[in-house]
Amino acid sequence: MDPFPQDRSILLNDAPVNPAGRFVVYWMCAFRRTRFNFSLQRAAGWARELGKPLLVLEALRCDYPWASERLHRFILDGMRDNLSDFENSPALYFPFVERFKNEGRGLLRELASMACLVVTDEYPAFFIPRMTRAAAKGLPVRMEAVDSNGLLPMGITDRVFLTAYSFRRFLQQELPRRLDRFPKENPLAGLSIPRLERLPEEISRRWPAAPPEAVHASHGYLSGLPIDHAVKPVEIRGGSRAARTRLLDFLGTGLPAYHAERNHPDANAGSGMSPYLHFGHISAHEIFSELRKVERWSPERLTAKASGQREGWWGMSPGGEAFLDQLVTWRELGFNMCSQREDYDRFESLPEWALTELVGHEQDNHRFRYSLEEFESARTHDPLWNAAQRQLLLEGTIHNYLRMLWGKKILEWTPSPRNALEIMIELNNRYALDGRDPNSYTGIFWVFGRYDRPFGPQRPVFGKIRFMSSRATMKKLRLAEYMRRLQRPGA
Ligand SMILES: Cc1cc2nc3c(=O)[nH]c(=O)nc-3n(C[C@H](O)[C@H](O)[C@H](O)COP(=O)(O)OP(=O)(O)OC[C@H]3O[C@@H](n4cnc5c(N)ncnc54)[C@H](O)[C@@H]3O)c2cc1C
Repeated sequence: MDPFPQDRSILLNDAPVNPAGRFVVYWMCAFRRTRFNFSLQRAAGWARELGKPLLVLEALRCDYPWASERLHRFILDGMRDNLSDFENSPALYFPFVERFKNEGRGLLRELASMACLVVTDEYPAFFIPRMTRAAAKGLPVRMEAVDSNGLLPMGITDRVFLTAYSFRRFLQQELPRRLDRFPKENPLAGLSIPRLERLPEEISRRWPAAPPEAVHASHGYLSGLPIDHAVKPVEIRGGSRAARTRLLDFLGTGLPAYHAERNHPDANAGSGMSPYLHFGHISAHEIFSELRKVERWSPERLTAKASGQREGWWGMSPGGEAFLDQLVTWRELGFNMCSQREDYDRFESLPEWALTELVGHEQDNHRFRYSLEEFESARTHDPLWNAAQRQLLLEGTIHNYLRMLWGKKILEWTPSPRNALEIMIELNNRYALDGRDPNSYTGIFWVFGRYDRPFGPQRPVFGKIRFMSSRATMKKLRLAEYMRRLQRPGA
């Protein structure tokens, strides 16, 4: 088999490979793309080694938490791109979209009973680790999960990093020798294997492949599914093609000013990559590969010393350095937490000092208190907060800086920090395209002190947890246009 980084592959059961199987299955559930995908590369390697066809199953359940028209449409956009990307490839692509709850039950097991082995995606958050581990238990053949999440394989350490600084230092030590171990841009190019022309009949009869109106996410099709119809699709479209267009546009026009402009809502200077990264429509490796072209960068530009400093280590422009600090340090810090701690989404997982502050101030007087419904409908006394919430409702995202303020105010205006955490998780994961991600928990728990330090003076409700104010934010940032766009008419 092609050389493959062993630290990216995890065995999920003890069952053997069945060399007499009819094909190799790749069950795509997190890295929903054909490019820069270690899982697809691994499955293709097995197919070549065994001389068997490759079948790629991309399934979409209808009962995952917060399933809605908004999230379904984005995922289906990705399936539409995959359908055409696999069309002239040596692999057979099987998009399966559940029309009713549990329709897909038994599908993987049935495929596995005909297969040599199953390869799937290793993703550390949401329901995916539970689902893949439960599925692996009952299979008659080997099942491997492959980590194609970030530049650093999650499995190379069992340490939990508590600050971005310590994780950055670790990255700076480990990354240089891994920058030549990227997944292939197109793992199916030049692959010589027999082709499976169609699905086995036992499968297609019971589990038909998604029809064209499903992958085109037509309104009629979405409205017939048992998902949340109150959370509507947003303007931004999903899929690898939209992801790449947006990336190239950002690198071509936004990168030079990224470090200076990122905090200003009116500049809208972020890359917009987070929903595509979340659904696996693009990989951090592809983003890095395009960035290095724009920067004309090579590894000789890396600084030898791993000091943990935020700027200068990569040897890129200030925009490139700042962007990589988000894309690599902050993003992969969350993958480290979720892969190491099962309780990553629970209040008790906060650092000791933060728990002490929050619990110690639980009885403090709250000047304002709102319920989940009041927050959800953007009806607080604070126009800036309401605008951020309206952005979440209407556009499926909140500008990065305002997302911090949004979280801090929910903490301030909710009777208990546990309740504030529940509200934030509910709103973020229900409405944000990029929700339900390790980054979601990095951001939300940062509001409560994770990865942060105590800040004086003591304040009501917060204690020494970092405080943010809307008035100071209004003064500091350029957001007149943002407010015009998102303020409720007449408010
Ligand atoms: C309360 C709160 C909730 C958040 N929820 C989410 C969430 O559900 N999903 C999500 O992806 N991010 C979340 N973030 C982090 C951050 O706000 C978004 O990643 C960022 O705004 C996405 O926009 P972008 O893709 O244009 O980012 P860019 O600025 O272009 O950054 C590039 C990439 O780096 C990563 N990144 C950027 N900022 C952060 C950060 N602070 N922490 C971790 N990774 C980061 C993202 O993958 C992002 O796509 C949250 C932050 C807070 C404070």
